[in-house]
Amino acid sequence: MAAACTALLRAESGQSPFKATLATRDIRIELSGGQGAPQLDSLSRSNGAAWRNDRSEALPESVEVNGERVPVGWQLKPELGSADGRRVVFVYECEHPHLRLLWQWERRAAFGPVEHKITIENLGDHEAWLPMTDSLRLGLDVHAKADLRNLYVEKGADKPSAVGTHMDAITEGYRWTGRSSTYSHPVDGEAREIIPAAIVFSAAGPQEGWYAGIEFSGRTRVELDRSGAELSTVLGLDPDPGPFRTRVEPGGSFETPTVLLGAFAGGPDGAGNQLRPWERAVLGNPETWSDPKYPLLVNNSWGNGMKVDEALATRMIHDSKELGLEMFHMDAGWFRGVGDWYPNPQKFPHGLAPIADEAHRLGLRFGLWVDWTQAALDTEPGALNVHDPKVRDWLVADVGPDWKPEEFKGQTADVGVPAARDYFAKEVNRIVTSYHLDMLEHDGYLVAQGCARGDHPHAPPDASMKITHEWGSDFVRSSNETDVSYHAVRAYYSIYAETRREHPGLLFEICNDGGRMVDFGSAAHGDYFSITDTYDPLSNRRAFFDTSYLLPAAMLESYVEKWPTPRPENFLYMLRSGMMGWETIMQDTNAWTPEQHEAARQAFALYKQKLRPLIRDAELFHISERPDGAHWDGIEYWNRGSGVVFAFRGTVPDEADHRFVLAGLDQHKRYRLHFQDGSSPDSIADGAELMGSGLQVHLQNPLSSELVFLEDAGSSRNER
Ligand SMILES: [Zn+2]
Repeated sequence: MAAACTALLRAESGQSPFKATLATRDIRIELSGGQGAPQLDSLSRSNGAAWRNDRSEALPESVEVNGERVPVGWQLKPELGSADGRRVVFVYECEHPHLRLLWQWERRAAFGPVEHKITIENLGDHEAWLPMTDSLRLGLDVHAKADLRNLYVEKGADKPSAVGTHMDAITEGYRWTGRSSTYSHPVDGEAREIIPAAIVFSAAGPQEGWYAGIEFSGRTRVELDRSGAELSTVLGLDPDPGPFRTRVEPGGSFETPTVLLGAFAGGPDGAGNQLRPWERAVLGNPETWSDPKYPLLVNNSWGNGMKVDEALATRMIHDSKELGLEMFHMDAGWFRGVGDWYPNPQKFPHGLAPIADEAHRLGLRFGLWVDWTQAALDTEPGALNVHDPKVRDWLVADVGPDWKPEEFKGQTADVGVPAARDYFAKEVNRIVTSYHLDMLEHDGYLVAQGCARGDHPHAPPDASMKITHEWGSDFVRSSNETDVSYHAVRAYYSIYAETRREHPGLLFEICNDGGRMVDFGSAAHGDYFSITDTYDPLSNRRAFFDTSYLLPAAMLESYVEKWPTPRPENFLYMLRSGMMGWETIMQDTNAWTPEQHEAARQAFALYKQKLRPLIRDAELFHISERPDGAHWDGIEYWNRGSGVVFAFRGTVPDEADHRFVLAGLDQHKRYRLHFQDGSSPDSIADGAELMGSGLQVHLQNPLSSELVFLEDAGSSRNER
């Protein structure tokens, strides 16, 4: 049996620890490497008050080797560490068992947040099992921080809830855990899943604070816990259900999900206006953002459900061209069967490539829906069959003899199994290449929720575990769920990174059953998100309101479904409710009246000319309460001299007027206002007025909208 590392005992007390500083334009952190554990000493805005931290990082205290629990003593190895202006790495080692731990902080842009992760390498000859190792643990001194708040947002999974954006007061005894996975199935009595991040700030004065988020799509959580003057803060994998353990092979390593940490002023929109450009610059795909047509305007076939065929696709492509839409997106229904991702010969006798080519001929792009980790019963060559012995070993559980797939869902293969990963990497590449794709949408659940296999790389299931049908009523939870997600997510990321390298310019839509995989890890591996699975105007605006606190507007896709539009203004209200980010039309545009056709054509032209540049580049401000459908709501974009206000009027009959208090303008300047639909005459207003009493908008009818464009018109008359 291995003995405890003795290095710790030799650590000299009183020795001055290693110190380092890392800073961007927006945040400065002080770091120290104590003998037994490292610590972030403080974080601050470059010119703001510091948040001091009294707690060192919690490194694993023991590992399991050959079935025995072995204590681990970590010793700082100053000679192995490094610190320059971009990256700080403190290295700790234990000789027996032989482990090395890298505590790393990095800045990847001159502005915005810094990133942090912990890597543990197994340098020994035996497999080691690590316990839960959090990404980041802090105990912040908040005694001088007045009126502390925590802003966090739910995923729009299924349907956005009535709350969506939460603003909690962090008072004595405050305890909060926000969870994220790729499932987001609401469990009775549990809170809805969040985009894994918290924005913590003092609501007094300049509204200064910090934000932290997790760049990982597996099972993660963020915890805040206030006791007296200390705010305990933990980010990392979700330890529940536990106990978590993960295998590290000799020569292998475990890496905590990367955490981003930023400091800001100006309240939650101040945080968002710093974070979104950073995500674009650091997490985003340069190939995607350098395309001036991003975010695209899309026509999707799901308005006709599974009834898609060559004739419909051709008709939709031609109408898309007429309307000025830029991509035809074929949704589910095109394939032979689940796990059999070849065109259905009855529906597509000439295959998919000619459809893609026709779109290309007309200057459109071609996108395709796939749920590529699923296996089912088809037996044709190329199909992933659950009874194939090779495939059976990859499945999260055996299926019964009478098992049948659903219309577009089968049994999930665990992509975290290396052989499965390699198969899916080839299969994704084949789909992209042979169907001439410009965009691949993945739907369903790529990452297994749980896995009953004991011979996969992840931890084995509990004896009590039972999966006959994933996340069905008979799903029994198991302590290996988080580790299953850890391996599967890393495999999924590696497949998409490879596919991107092979197909520059290819777009990835992260759908994952509609808004369930919305996090900073998938933001780094995909190009845009389906943000909710409910597509009416109110749900679209709610999901956008919530998600846009944390992610670039260009990445936020709203599907716009058929909705009652008896009057022309209702039609524009429907279109514009999905037009604040990436818009995908999901209805039969051939059924639109000639007037609606023309209105849509003009709306799409305006999007390309004036809205899209703002959606890509502008600061975004939440200038109303969260949409409730009854009252007014709005979003403001502002970018160096020009901007737009999206104004929506709800159902309340006697609310024809509303004032939006704008943000981001100059008090001493004047602004030219242009009301796109002519609901008010164009005029000039003072910045002080627009940011004081507000921008007045008048709309005669409920369920209508207006776009108010703003232009800088020089210094105000009041300024002499
Ligand atoms: Zn598995």
